Amino acid sequence: MSDTPSLIRRTPWPESVSRAVVTPLQPSVVYASPDPDTLDSQYLGQNPGYTYAREGHPNADVLARKIDLLEGAQGGLILGSGMAAVTAALMGILSSGDHVLGGDQLYGRSLRLMSQDLNRFGIATSLADPTDAAAFAAAIRPETKLILLEVVSNPTLRVADIDGIAAIARDRGILLAIDNTFTTPRGFKPFEHGADIVIHSVTKILSGHSDATLGYVATKDPALRKAIYDFAVTTGMTPSPFDCWLAERGIYSFELRYDRSEANARALADHLATLPGVKRVLYPTRSDHPDHNRAVSLLGERGGHMVSFEIEGGRAQANALTRGAPDLAFAPTLGDIGTTLSHPASSSHRALTPEGRAKQGISEGFFRVSVGIEDIDLLKSEFTRAVAASQAV
Ligand SMILES: *Cc1c(COP(=O)(O)O)cnc(C)c1O
Repeated sequence: MSDTPSLIRRTPWPESVSRAVVTPLQPSVVYASPDPDTLDSQYLGQNPGYTYAREGHPNADVLARKIDLLEGAQGGLILGSGMAAVTAALMGILSSGDHVLGGDQLYGRSLRLMSQDLNRFGIATSLADPTDAAAFAAAIRPETKLILLEVVSNPTLRVADIDGIAAIARDRGILLAIDNTFTTPRGFKPFEHGADIVIHSVTKILSGHSDATLGYVATKDPALRKAIYDFAVTTGMTPSPFDCWLAERGIYSFELRYDRSEANARALADHLATLPGVKRVLYPTRSDHPDHNRAVSLLGERGGHMVSFEIEGGRAQANALTRGAPDLAFAPTLGDIGTTLSHPASSSHRALTPEGRAKQGISEGFFRVSVGIEDIDLLKSEFTRAVAASQAV
């Protein structure tokens, strides 16, 4: 016998005539309903209410409504990672015998999903150059059901011909899914350009602090939404309430962070271009960018928070550059409040052969920068020093 029989009964939440200002964090896995009739009414959608956290929880819904607002969407879903969102969108909708066509510079794991995993389930895949709408049109098959694009590619920041490909997709009755992670809804609104499905890695600048791994997927078609939702719930792509809570906190400052990061990126790109030892700078709205005209027509002045550049030399110079900038995290991520440096040849694109990388313009001297919200003068001096250190080798 227990000395304290009520110990395992939950203590009621203290009463208060005031309310918390901050969204509560609700980690409960289960939700109790008063009786079976009420539970029935919840399942039938006649009454609001949660049942089991894998199927949905309030912290995910609060975050989803925030991103819906940014994207002009309704009923978007939060999943456990950006890759969960990509996977649920594709596998929730496609069936054996379907074909999916993707941009040839998609995020690495999206490429892997296309080239290795979907094929095992009888879904055919192929890739085409998204800066060339005619190449996309030529790659369409009778069984093509979905096209997956990113607006600005990683790491060479090529700008896809979204409007050209959207027109083709519309004509042929093919679904268009756009991964809007790089551009963000501040830079580009896929639903206004014919997208049927919008995907985000919330892990990146939407959340913004590199402390939550999450994804988002939205569609305006209720049948597609249900297919994606059911696949995600069945396969357990559920997000953690704590991550959702952190990301919600991050998103309040998203627009401020984005604008500052973007202004910094534009200024840093121009600064890098003046440094001895820098061979090439890539920033979508710079006039020397290969897709400059399309970038301006699709994105306006919104060049984004990513800059890529190439230095003279090879691996030795690349090593010296990251060592010469100890305060710039050399880390394969993006969208953090602090500037991060990535070296595709040793990370995201290491699986390619040197020739395969060269075809994309990625040498050992190639770096991608996710520009943060620091003081721009600090960033300029850090990059000046790092590039000089690389060229002293
Ligand atoms: C990071 C990223 C993903 C994957 O997101 P995770 O949250 O890391 O799973 C997908 N697409 C793009 C464009 C990304 O940058």
